[in-house]
Amino acid sequence: MATVLDQISLNEKKIQEIIKKTKEHALLHGVLMRTAESPGNSETVQYAPFTLFPSLVPREALAKVKAIQPHFNKLMHMVAHDFEFLEKCLSNVVKVDDFNKRLWDILQVVTEEGVTQPISLGLFRNDFMMDVKQSSPIDASAPASVPETVQMKQIEFNMIAASFAGLVSPLFNVHRYSLTLAGKQFEDSQVPPNNPANGLAQGLVEGWKAYGNKRACVLFLVSEPERNSLDQRRLDVEMFTCDRSVPVKYVTFKDMSERGSNRISDKALVIDGCEVAVLYFRTGYTPEDYRSDKDWDTRLMMERSKAIKCPTIQYHLAGTKKIQQELCRPGAVERFIKDDRIARDIRETFVNQYSIDLGEDGDGAIEKAFADPQRYVLKTNREGGGNNVYGEDIKCLLSKMKNLEERARYILMERILPWPQTSYLLKAGSEASLQTVVTEIGIFGVYMGTADKEIYNSVTGHVLRTKNVNSDEGGLMVGLSYMDTPFLI
Ligand code: ADP
Ligand code: MG
Ligand code: MG
Repeated sequence: MATVLDQISLNEKKIQEIIKKTKEHALLHGVLMRTAESPGNSETVQYAPFTLFPSLVPREALAKVKAIQPHFNKLMHMVAHDFEFLEKCLSNVVKVDDFNKRLWDILQVVTEEGVTQPISLGLFRNDFMMDVKQSSPIDASAPASVPETVQMKQIEFNMIAASFAGLVSPLFNVHRYSLTLAGKQFEDSQVPPNNPANGLAQGLVEGWKAYGNKRACVLFLVSEPERNSLDQRRLDVEMFTCDRSVPVKYVTFKDMSERGSNRISDKALVIDGCEVAVLYFRTGYTPEDYRSDKDWDTRLMMERSKAIKCPTIQYHLAGTKKIQQELCRPGAVERFIKDDRIARDIRETFVNQYSIDLGEDGDGAIEKAFADPQRYVLKTNREGGGNNVYGEDIKCLLSKMKNLEERARYILMERILPWPQTSYLLKAGSEASLQTVVTEIGIFGVYMGTADKEIYNSVTGHVLRTKNVNSDEGGLMVGLSYMDTPFLI
């Protein structure tokens, strides 16, 4: 099976030595997270789960998705600013999904009240897998067989739950080290430099500059306790390298509801006497993030303010799985992207997705799923992993919802068949083991603009998350996936 160590054989003793040294290398480079026992402080930390070696990625495939990312950034910005499109796509969802209904209500209020801050800022992560469905069957016994057709297919576009830029930034160096210990020959360009944390930080600094008040801060809205807080902190470390004068603060929803307010005279968002230039959400994407109506009031208050929100409420809603499914319809991408070639390049990354709402369209999609459930994934409009339904469970769930409006909670997506490879997976407290794995590739992008003007648009790097081939979901924080980098071939 394909592996970066093709034709290198290492005995167990050597592997154990590489593992030990590489773990220390990761610690020294800061590939770190808090422990499950002490998620609230950084005095005890451990290395974040990562793969011992990088995964094979065709150079052209990665280059292609990086090249279209600015267009994806722009597309999602335009979608978010098309109220009519959002309303049409989400009208059935909000009837049955209380969480998205609450987000929608906030959008309606701020739309009716009128724009307080024309600028939207997004720090995005666009996720893909290397689909090999079109290839001839993979010969598992053949050495490093690279399938003839590896196609990058989009999994989802993340607006808030777009983590791991911080943790992955030092990892290419760690992988260059482990490969060297293993005796693998490679060019630097095969394990390319990658610092998405710096690019995202630059985006936050650009937002801060656009706000135009040097005393105002960049505010990270976070959960606490948060095991992944060092991933967030890496962004502000990088902001410090971009511009030392940007004040940075961290607050929770609770802090904001107790001490934050909008100044009456100009709607500036203020907390602890500090005006907020950029409000960067690292929480607020799951129902559990809102402990009570008070937190929802706080979300509304923040959306009403003139702080630059990253993301805005309309970006947040544009990131739902429903919108991504609706963009797969003929003509939907083209509504926003007038250049045929660009629209085609975007569309090439899509697999089929179907609405299963009540009605003929939906019935047809459900029939497809019943006929061959292994070919599909049923997704709900939630973020952060653990929400998808696969295989026979799809049939079971669909049977229960036969004639119910509930169906609008879900969309049906064709299943991507990712390229399997072998890799050693390293996690603190577990024995490292060689496993058959698949990889998800996230491309980070930054976009800033008003409804009709682009101010900033960049692609800032990548993160790979690798998991056992048999694991349906891929959460890194829940221990299912492992940080990774590409080895370009
Ligand atoms: P979330 O917002 O919860 O991360 P995703 O759409 O990323 O939702 O789904 C979670 C995981 O499920 C992904 O990381 C991927 O491993 C798997 N997955 C999602 N869609 C597909 C698909 N079409 N084919 C194969 N696996 C998928
Ligand atoms: Mg997501
Ligand atoms: Mg995801």
